Amino acid sequence: MPTLRFHAIKESLAYKPVYIEENVKRSELFGKNVFNEKTMRQYLTKDAFVGVMNAIQHGKKIDRNIADQVASAMKDWALSKGVTHYTHWFQPLTGSTAEKHDAFFETTKDGNSIEKFEGGQLVQQEPDASSFPSGGIRNTFEARGYTAWDPSSPAFIYETTLCIPTIFVAYTGEALDYKTPLLRALHAVDDAATAICKYFDKNVKKVSSSLGWEQEYFLVDKMLAASRPDLVLTGRTLLGHSSAKGQQLDDHYFGSIPNRALNFMRELENECMLLGIPVKTRHNEVAPNQFEVAPIYEEANLAVDHNSLLMDIMGRVASRHNFKVLLHEKPFAGVNGSGKHNNWSLSTDTGINLLGPGKTPMSNLQFLTFFVNTIKGVHTHEALLRAAIASASNDHRLGANEAPPAIMSIFIGEQLTKVLEELEGVTKGKLSPQEKTELKLNVIGKIPDVLLDNTDRNRTSPFAFTGNKFEFRAVGSTANCGNPMTVLNTIVAKQLRDFKTEVDLLIDKKGLKKDEAIFNVLRENIKSCRDILFEGNGYGEAWEKEAKKRGLSNNKTTPEALKSKVSKESIALFEEMGVMSKIETQARYEIEMEAYIKHIQIESRVLGDVSRNHIVPTAVKYQNILIENVKGLKEIFEEKYNAVSKEQINLIEEISNHIEGINVNVTKMIGERKKANVINDLEKKAHKYCFNVKPLLDDIRYHCDKLELLVDDELWPLTKYREMLFTR
Ligand code: ADP
Ligand code: MG
Repeated sequence: MPTLRFHAIKESLAYKPVYIEENVKRSELFGKNVFNEKTMRQYLTKDAFVGVMNAIQHGKKIDRNIADQVASAMKDWALSKGVTHYTHWFQPLTGSTAEKHDAFFETTKDGNSIEKFEGGQLVQQEPDASSFPSGGIRNTFEARGYTAWDPSSPAFIYETTLCIPTIFVAYTGEALDYKTPLLRALHAVDDAATAICKYFDKNVKKVSSSLGWEQEYFLVDKMLAASRPDLVLTGRTLLGHSSAKGQQLDDHYFGSIPNRALNFMRELENECMLLGIPVKTRHNEVAPNQFEVAPIYEEANLAVDHNSLLMDIMGRVASRHNFKVLLHEKPFAGVNGSGKHNNWSLSTDTGINLLGPGKTPMSNLQFLTFFVNTIKGVHTHEALLRAAIASASNDHRLGANEAPPAIMSIFIGEQLTKVLEELEGVTKGKLSPQEKTELKLNVIGKIPDVLLDNTDRNRTSPFAFTGNKFEFRAVGSTANCGNPMTVLNTIVAKQLRDFKTEVDLLIDKKGLKKDEAIFNVLRENIKSCRDILFEGNGYGEAWEKEAKKRGLSNNKTTPEALKSKVSKESIALFEEMGVMSKIETQARYEIEMEAYIKHIQIESRVLGDVSRNHIVPTAVKYQNILIENVKGLKEIFEEKYNAVSKEQINLIEEISNHIEGINVNVTKMIGERKKANVINDLEKKAHKYCFNVKPLLDDIRYHCDKLELLVDDELWPLTKYREMLFTR
């Protein structure tokens, strides 16, 4: 009997859920372990407080004296909470967060010791960068990088460590993380959007980008997960026949949350509260043992940090409830995968959501300006936006009839479609007083009512307008939101900048009034970006054909999609907006292509091992039992032998066919890998892995899964889907 599987099942059934008490109000817990504004007021001198607030709100530099004061205050605060260590906390391009703890503790010359933390240690550190992906930005022998404090994301305490959010850059200045380009993109969109807002309200001084993510995940019993080498090593199951019952009864979505999962959520949410992550929503998702957590939206940089932090904490909390949390986009074939919707909007320091309808015609014109320019920006750079969500794991989900296809399109609803159609009919040049009145009363004046009716949400769209925000739904559940948020904000910043140039030109050169100029440019923009708008079924084949006619990209695999990242247009876009230099863009391309190759390579090796060393021997064992059985039948039956042994003999043969299928394909796969590994050209290598190695994974899996249905359950070594998905 295969011990690991049955041992794991026994353990998982014996597990008694931990009950998490909640006797403190969430609002009292919220932000308790964050060096936030409230704590700063308490711990900082007035000068230091003003200095930090200026850095947060206006990006002003913090001088050394203030930094010393802040560091000292942070230390006092942290020590009062039992903290022993501090770390610069950053998000390298590995996809997870990084930290290196140093104790506050230091020895003094006289043999005593003290707790010390100074401005220099707060502001900058030099971790060895050589083991983080750099995309060849510098050679390992000169692999110096440094982390630098990002005051716009507050320091926090996790367990006994003070964590200081930082950027991570090479010594030569190039970004080596997700945060640096994101901050640059947020700066770019602030500049461009604020300039546009001034057409409508001179008091606007700053525009911030907001993000509300929705994180989907699976919870699987820790022992059961540990019994599956594929889950342990790749985060997904590379084989496993689907369970007789999956999600077909639709009985999990929004159903009552199983007890053990609920207690996990309670503890997770408590931790989030302490860390100032404003999680609000929790529910069951479509697949069995699949769930979602979502916060109240926040400023995008903070929201990205919070999501990265959350993904880290989830794993730790899960472990305390004997769960393994699976963030992979497709941990199980045949049931829904996981995504991470990115709800995005822009808002002013005067409190206006620029993607929400206003109360007056003028504020609605402002809304339309941002609405149309977002659409236009996405249309111009749709392939780049697709590239921003490309990864080996997300490839399993996109276009799999459960998630948006690889084609980027925008859903805006019937009503706003009509508004755009009317705007397309606006007269060229100066508008008559009647036309202006008509537009203000009957087109843009009607918008608030219209949006309330805009409830017919289209779940198949990768990028949908949902009343007061755009929802980018194609982001993968493992992704660092920094990447898609950098791209989206950069695209919109560029489009807003171009829009302003055109409007100003019409005002200066053609003598148009401001609103006339805006209407004129909007009209042209709508005309030129109509092709990105799609209200129909995004899962259908008809859309693929239609999208092709419209010239939209449809890059189904990561290597194809990533190419757009280094297109002439994309490089120029990032350079122009000051988000990434050409070197930085190319480095990221290389890092992501390499990550893709390595992912497929690891999956291929793991499946090769599991199928040949676990599945084939099991199949042979069972086949031998059948052979013994047939021999025995032959001894006792003489005439009837053929009839009574027919099925067994068929089985023996069937098993042989599948064993052959596995062995032939594993050998072929190893051969393909060998050929791919000697290729130096990254693009060619990735293509080889994508089109020659990856398809063999499916072929091998096919035979393994068939064997699972044939072989004695008692002999089967791998924990089955029904066990992982239904053990609560
Ligand atoms: P769902 O899409 O599941 O129906 P909601 O639309 O209520 O749920 O919200 C999903 C997420 O969108 C939440 O994280 C919420 O905070 C966020 N959100 C709501 N309004 C905005 C906004 N203006 N900008 C960005 N995110 C927003
Ligand atoms: Mg949503």
